[in-house]
Amino acid sequence: MQRMIENLKEAISEGGVIAFTGAGVSAESGIPTYRGKDGFWTKYDPSKYASIEYFNLDPSYYWSFFKDTRAPLIHDARPNPGHVALAEMEKAGYLDAVITQNIDGLHQAGGSKQVIELHGSTRRFYCVDCNKKYSLQEAEGALDVNLPPRCNKCEGIIRPDVVFFGEMLPPGLLEKAFTLAKSASVIITVGSTLIVYPASHVPAVAKQAGARLAIVNDEPTPLDDIADWTLYGNAGEILPQLI
Ligand code: NAD
Ligand code: ZN
Repeated sequence: MQRMIENLKEAISEGGVIAFTGAGVSAESGIPTYRGKDGFWTKYDPSKYASIEYFNLDPSYYWSFFKDTRAPLIHDARPNPGHVALAEMEKAGYLDAVITQNIDGLHQAGGSKQVIELHGSTRRFYCVDCNKKYSLQEAEGALDVNLPPRCNKCEGIIRPDVVFFGEMLPPGLLEKAFTLAKSASVIITVGSTLIVYPASHVPAVAKQAGARLAIVNDEPTPLDDIADWTLYGNAGEILPQLI
């Protein structure tokens, strides 16, 4: 492992690095991954709160979930040494961007500037009818008055700026991620099962275009066979060693 880390550090020192992150990078900040075995996800059914079809049918289900479980997490979670290490790598000029599947905003909180949020963010909201934007604080204020919260301009339902299952990724964002992937020298994937398409395609595209692939995860992934480095363990412990 130490040898692999030294070898990867050498590759990073040549620059042109991008990171691709999933729920695992935030696990040490106390945000459960989908695959976590604790009871967190059992009270609310992800096939309901994460689905656009169900949101349109009954938005109060999502907002009850948000109020009970998501909001406290967002307020309490702090970036961990893994997020901070990626931010430092960017500040030092080696890392060009973080492409993330996460919706928690912790990369930005940890100091990263170039962050592509493929699945949006649960810190931004908008009205489904007039598109008026709401901050987390404003959405929570509206949620105190109404369940589901309603727009103060047109009474429309307020929704999170996230990609629900059944929705397309924001236009242009995936293309931007692929463009970065195609020109990267090294791509480091962190805390992702690498199975949720189309986002999971990014590391494969980078590799095909000639990038070297590093995988940091606490369990094997389907791309381990084509990886140049596989570092098994906690992101918050491994990433700081790359600085
Ligand atoms: P996932 O939950 O499917 O997989 C996470 C991976 O990280 C697993 O392989 C797990 O073993 C590994 N892992 C867990 N803790 C780790 C640690 N400390 N260090 C290193 N690896 C660790 O997540 P995914 O691949 O991102 O895809 C699922 C979807 O879940 C994404 O679309 C994402 O938007 C969503 N999601 C986001 C959040 C968040 O924003 N924090 C949380 C849960 C799920
Ligand atoms: Zn409105």
